[in-house]
Amino acid sequence: MTDITNFLTSLTKEKLPIWNISLATPSYTALKQKASQHYALPEDEYLVTMVFPRPRRTMIENKIKSITTKHNGKIMREKLAIEEWDEKFYPMRFKKLGPSLVASEVILPIDKVAAFVNEVERKYKGDFAIEGTMVGTDKISLLGFMLSDERKLGFPLAYACSLDVIEIAEKQGGQVFTVGMYFTDRAKNFYGSDKLQEIWKYKKSIDPTGFMNPGKIIPSSLDKQSPTKMLTSAMKLANTGSSLIGLAGRLMTKWQKGEFDSPLGEELTDDTFACAMCGYCRSICTVFDAVPWESNSPRGKYFILNQYIKGKIPMNDEVGRALYPCTTCKKCDTVCQVRSHNAHHWMDLRFEFSKNKLHNTGLEIIRDNVLNTGNFWGVPAKKRLKWLDVPTQTHGKIAYWSGCWASTIMDNMAQNATRILNHLDIPFVHYREKEQCCGLYLALGGYKKDFQNLVRQNLEMFKESGVETILFSCPGCYATFNENYQQMALEMGIECDIRFKHIVVYLSELIADGKLQFTKPLNTTITYHDSCHIGRWFGHFDEPRNVIRAIPGLELREMEHIKEEGLCCGLVSAFDSLSSVAHSGVKRIEEAEYTGAEYLVTNCAGCGSQFNSTCQTLGSKVQQIDLTELVAKALQIPTMDPSEQVVVFMNQCIELMKDSVLAPIIVPAEAKK
Ligand code: SF4
Ligand code: SF4
Repeated sequence: MTDITNFLTSLTKEKLPIWNISLATPSYTALKQKASQHYALPEDEYLVTMVFPRPRRTMIENKIKSITTKHNGKIMREKLAIEEWDEKFYPMRFKKLGPSLVASEVILPIDKVAAFVNEVERKYKGDFAIEGTMVGTDKISLLGFMLSDERKLGFPLAYACSLDVIEIAEKQGGQVFTVGMYFTDRAKNFYGSDKLQEIWKYKKSIDPTGFMNPGKIIPSSLDKQSPTKMLTSAMKLANTGSSLIGLAGRLMTKWQKGEFDSPLGEELTDDTFACAMCGYCRSICTVFDAVPWESNSPRGKYFILNQYIKGKIPMNDEVGRALYPCTTCKKCDTVCQVRSHNAHHWMDLRFEFSKNKLHNTGLEIIRDNVLNTGNFWGVPAKKRLKWLDVPTQTHGKIAYWSGCWASTIMDNMAQNATRILNHLDIPFVHYREKEQCCGLYLALGGYKKDFQNLVRQNLEMFKESGVETILFSCPGCYATFNENYQQMALEMGIECDIRFKHIVVYLSELIADGKLQFTKPLNTTITYHDSCHIGRWFGHFDEPRNVIRAIPGLELREMEHIKEEGLCCGLVSAFDSLSSVAHSGVKRIEEAEYTGAEYLVTNCAGCGSQFNSTCQTLGSKVQQIDLTELVAKALQIPTMDPSEQVVVFMNQCIELMKDSVLAPIIVPAEAKK
């Protein structure tokens, strides 16, 4: 659409029952597509998205089509319109390109849209991207963004561009979007003299001491106590030269080169400044849900990091404790407005804590266990193999990795997996006593050197055995090998070309290839919990469900939150808040109970242990079961119930973690000498 003003005027004259009319200028579309690297829309035309009631669709669409044609526009595909509508709630997607924004918001008569946008374009040459939403029948609210960088000296000056854009709108008969604290000098124009007097009279009557919202809306010419007199004067000054000041700021920002000095890595530093502070990540965050402190949410963490990078706060135990809580569930990544890899950042921060001589006391215990016994629990290697009762190889193409949790607290998982492979005549390598921890807890604790040693040892062991694919019962190990090992191997300059696969994904492939079939029906009802580390981390949502569907007699009843939106079991919170673990566990069990299913199916030793013990504690009518147990039962392979030992191990875990906290590393006096 190029003839935007006439189009909007004609459209509103029709008085169609349209719920929402949104507008994107060519610059806005261009910037948005650049940020997402998804180019589907024209970047030289206005884009108008309309939302209206489906029952009256034909009538409304016909009218829109005729108005669009009359004004030289064209109708886009519905799929694009739906994508646009979904994206409307992420107006700051491109902030990452800044990573800061200069923003401006105005209200304008619709017949002035084109004149306003043309003037902004003339002055800013596409640097100010504008989008808008119709308000009422003859006005549009326009929000403009200009990329900037608050780390550059010119940033405060560049902000004057915001005032310049407001001035352009005012010349076209528009006004600021709202008065707030910054634009009290415009309050008279905004509300009208009588209305403003009325507001002021009312404020004085209910708030004679000026306690509420001091300095907001009421100009200092009326409110003599206003604390924003200086601000108003500064704004007036900035207004008079906004165009020139803004230009100077833009030029300074563009010219200033060089890296910003930050104690953190480049990506985390950029994402810290890119955070739009929108808060989309708050309500869905597992740790914020359990303990709603702002610092628990990703937004809060970025705010703290911003202050740390700027040198305003140190990285001490108090700051570290605020930044620490995270289960690495990746829920925040799925909603992040600027698409930051938040969960990875919180993991990387663990190395930053370590650099600043901070450690988690609980993870320190686990580190000792891993280094001394090769295992989270400190169980000697020989005792960890009592579940293994099928032949294994020392060399071969496929290996099975049992992991710390699936070979101890939930050793039924390792037994099921290996018995199933044996039943299917699939030979596999098992490293038996040589199998150590994958190193997840060393990475979580920020013990980089220890983790690197383990990465090297494990990769060498894999190479010697000639394996090409390794199967896992535990998504934690699977994620560690798939992500952390690749990253660390790259950093260490060693090769890591093995395929890592979760056993359930492998079984789903066998089913798809017709190599695994079930004849014995398991007549029961189940619900399925997506583990974060194979679900959100790697997108394996369908494979476990395919396995479930292949077993005759199983009725799958889905919970309220599944797949991308699935809840985290919360177990990883054990290192800083046992009450949060309980909160998350109970919440998920309640969802499972609500389905009326008999079993809550898991495919993770961590989630499985958490739900097994929570079900027992609550006396729940739903019971935890591992997916491999269902597969084994359907193949008539004997299985064992881990419930008794789960309670024993979980109590041991509570004992180990009860005082776990991020604390300064105390170096013994002798060691200092
Ligand atoms: S990864 Fe999960 S727990 Fe961690 S900050 Fe994101 S949503 Fe919260
Ligand atoms: S981290 Fe949270 S507050 Fe920041 S941009 Fe992403 S969703 Fe918004």
